[in-house]
Amino acid sequence: LRQANYDILTGLPNRMLALDRLKLALAQARRDESKVGVMFLDLDNFKHINDTLGHDAGDTLLIEAARRISSCLRGTSTVARLGGDEFLVVLPGLNGPDASSQVAERILKTFAPPFMLSGQEVFVTTSIGIATFPDDSDNSGTLLQHADAAMYEAKHKGKSAYARFTPEMSEVSHERLQMESHMRKALELGEFELYFQPIVDTASGGLVAAEALLRWNNPAMGMVMPDRFIPLAEETGLIIPIGEWVVKEACQAAYCWQAMTGREISIAVNVSPRQFRDPGFTDAIMRALNDSNLRPELLELEITERLILDNSIETADILKQLDKVGIRLSVDDFGTGYSALSYLKSYPFDTLKIDKSFVQDVLKENEDASLVRAIINMAHSLGLKVVAEGVEEEDQTHFLKAEHCDYSQGYFYSRPLPEQDFIHWLETNERANLK
Ligand code: C2E
Ligand code: MG
Ligand code: MG
Repeated sequence: LRQANYDILTGLPNRMLALDRLKLALAQARRDESKVGVMFLDLDNFKHINDTLGHDAGDTLLIEAARRISSCLRGTSTVARLGGDEFLVVLPGLNGPDASSQVAERILKTFAPPFMLSGQEVFVTTSIGIATFPDDSDNSGTLLQHADAAMYEAKHKGKSAYARFTPEMSEVSHERLQMESHMRKALELGEFELYFQPIVDTASGGLVAAEALLRWNNPAMGMVMPDRFIPLAEETGLIIPIGEWVVKEACQAAYCWQAMTGREISIAVNVSPRQFRDPGFTDAIMRALNDSNLRPELLELEITERLILDNSIETADILKQLDKVGIRLSVDDFGTGYSALSYLKSYPFDTLKIDKSFVQDVLKENEDASLVRAIINMAHSLGLKVVAEGVEEEDQTHFLKAEHCDYSQGYFYSRPLPEQDFIHWLETNERANLK
């Protein structure tokens, strides 16, 4: 009986017993016209901890998490482990709409102290979604789905957060599911396409490189922009095969242009932190270079500051390895993420890309101009090249020239273009520059 109803690891009720309890609680609530809170919890980055610290550490974490969640609840509530790192909390007899929020806040608070895992202090957070009977639904299955949708919303808010269900969320979670299933087939069906945006020498306006930007052409959804699907690709791990495809295509394209124009054009490729966690990452990069014959010095990997924050990845080792073979490395969206600058000197970066949010107001806001100026000077004194992103107006190029910003990229020069259009741009731009 115990085995059928309880989770062996944590001793908590399992999914089956949890659903029974939920149905009982709903029946009771119908009789006395009370409310029931249904809470869906998912630990943030659990898979990551499991992968890096091992399964024993993962188990210890689940047991301790179960204990912490239980400590926040009254006797009439149920905590269950649904599987993996997912927990369900049933809160019967809620009085007032804030009662479940208060419980959620208590739970988030008990996750604040570090967990001791394999002799290390590890900070773990959880995301919580809440649905309420009868406000959100009177059906146990639907309540669970709604709480799950709210949980995704909480994750989106930036983790260690809770969210209550709202009707718009069920559309979002439906769209998510749909997108995920489309995405699984997209590579096979050839729905991905690379666009290329020129990166020019600020002083001369001549082309030096292109950034490969991913587009997803789906018959049902139309053209999907990366901001809409990359987060989901990261969450589902699909970014690994997609990222491999991107770097392979990008290297091939750059080699093609070289053969066509007789001169070397670098190619910049965006990589997600998630790709660094894949043990096959560096091999995939090397394979793309070998297969395309592109010189490693012509490949530049763009990395966001998020990666440096993620100190559980052997970031430094991987970056050094890539640096050793000659691949260039740049910090993308500089200035929007982490503000500890020490990483700039300890990691082998070559380039710093100033985020477009600073470049955009460089002529309107004094502070932005000062920031851009300071970033350029700092980068140069560290021996880094600088790219200004999001250059849209001619006046900005004057400012950037005066400040000796090495390279520029933005709509002023060209929007990201499909490969054929890019080749056309390349030819006309070359001619213009020869004149
Ligand atoms: P990013 O790497 O910072 O790329 C620059 C983004 O700024 C691109 O958006 C580009 O279209 C846009 N942009 C360029 N010039 C201007 C301008 O003058 N004004 C304005 N307002 N925007 C400009 P896009 O193509 O939508 O890509 C968004 C983000 O998605 C990229 O930001 C990058 O972080 C990510 N991404 C794109 N392709 C890939 C990929 O293959 N792999 C991964 N992991 N991420 C990718
Ligand atoms: Mg980029
Ligand atoms: Mg950027």
